[in-house]
Amino acid sequence: MSSGQLSRIWQSFAVRLSLWFAATFTVSAAILFALLYILLTSFFEQSEREIVQARLKECAAVYESRGLPALSDLVHRTEFDENEGPYFVRVTGPQRSVLLLVAPQDWLRTAERAVDENDSNQNTWLQIPKDDRSEFIVARTVLSDGSTLQVGRSIHRSETLLRPFLSSFVLVMAPTFLLGLVGGAVFAHRATAPVREIMRTARTIINTGNLAERVPESQAQGELAELARQFNRVLVKNQNLILGMREALDNVAHDLRTPLTRMRGSAELALQSDSESPKREALADCIEESDRVLTMLNTLMDITEAEHGMMQLHRERRSVSALLEDVLEVYRLIAEEKKIEITANCEGPCYADVDPNRIQQALANLLDNAVKYTAEGGRISIVCSVFADNVLVRVKDNGIGIPIAEQPRIWDRLYRGDKSRGQRGLGLGLSLVKAVVEAHGGRVTVQSREGAGSEFSVSLPVGAKVEAVA
Ligand code: ADP
Repeated sequence: MSSGQLSRIWQSFAVRLSLWFAATFTVSAAILFALLYILLTSFFEQSEREIVQARLKECAAVYESRGLPALSDLVHRTEFDENEGPYFVRVTGPQRSVLLLVAPQDWLRTAERAVDENDSNQNTWLQIPKDDRSEFIVARTVLSDGSTLQVGRSIHRSETLLRPFLSSFVLVMAPTFLLGLVGGAVFAHRATAPVREIMRTARTIINTGNLAERVPESQAQGELAELARQFNRVLVKNQNLILGMREALDNVAHDLRTPLTRMRGSAELALQSDSESPKREALADCIEESDRVLTMLNTLMDITEAEHGMMQLHRERRSVSALLEDVLEVYRLIAEEKKIEITANCEGPCYADVDPNRIQQALANLLDNAVKYTAEGGRISIVCSVFADNVLVRVKDNGIGIPIAEQPRIWDRLYRGDKSRGQRGLGLGLSLVKAVVEAHGGRVTVQSREGAGSEFSVSLPVGAKVEAVA
């Protein structure tokens, strides 16, 4: 295996996770073992001391009640050490003369000095090492006549008793680590499955360009499942944005051809002419056409931004009635020229959190269409009201109306109705209205009958809603 492969394996999140898991598992098991070892050691020592202490009390009681001969008799009787092994018993008088000494056969002469010291230094307990495996423990008490009683016996060292426990610890630790490693690997593999799916999806999108690829979603609630869901949402947003931009680009390419061809034709004609005035006319045409192109491009960009939630809305609490009144001022003049009667009925100020410029732009487009598609002597009525936390604006005309078949398409970019070809326009007005209103969290609908007129209804939420991610 090359060093590159090794470093890739080491850097793998799943591998690190399983190693961490195994290490934590092993350390926890070791701590548990150590605690158990300490507990067992102190338990053994304690129980041995309790036995010796009981013997010490028994000897003291016999001495106090029946004197030294009775004590000597007791320690020489076999039942005294029948089950627990031989005892060391020593009584020293107040002048440190040894009055009674019973020592087992394995009692060490060297232990004698330690016992003497214990006699004088007043410690209750004394531990004297015997050999690798055992030691003596001696307890001491002062009797009522000033003599000292010492009782001791040989016990196994707790380390010796726990040696099999220690070796089983080493034996158990290796499989524990392995178990932790395998368990960790399984756990890490399962836990990182959503990450691998995200990587696989990203790789497929990069390699094949298939924007419809998605990470399989689960019903789980964990962070990684949530990451997969959010990743999919980002993909959906990106796909919509890219498709929208592609569509807009196609439309623009298609719709730019006409004005650009016209500009080229005018310029060519002007070049062929010798006189001055056709040249001036051609330049004027070129300016007009380039204005049209610029308006078209700007509006298309606005629509794309609004549709994909990227339009910067400068929201303020404004009276929609007042905004409508400002727009009406402009259109009343145009309507007068066509002898169209405009009536406006606003039920109060109708406040809402809106971007005033954008909403005026949308309302102006609706009014512009109403005036444009209504014949001379027609009527336009506008109503503004508040209903269930929404401001409603209805623009109704008795103009040419929209055929049922055309109605779903009027919101499409650059779409123009058959009968509207004779009128000025780019086919972007209603697309912008829809995009702006929806960017505000509102809705726009139409009701229309061919030859009878149309009614456009805009509803805008009074307060700004936090838009949910699509
Ligand atoms: P434009 O008006 O520039 O053609 P719009 O996007 O504003 O583009 O409108 C799209 C189409 O919807 C129009 O071409 C027209 O056919 C139809 N339309 C819009 N408003 C009205 C209306 N008030 N009355 C009749 N038709 C309308």
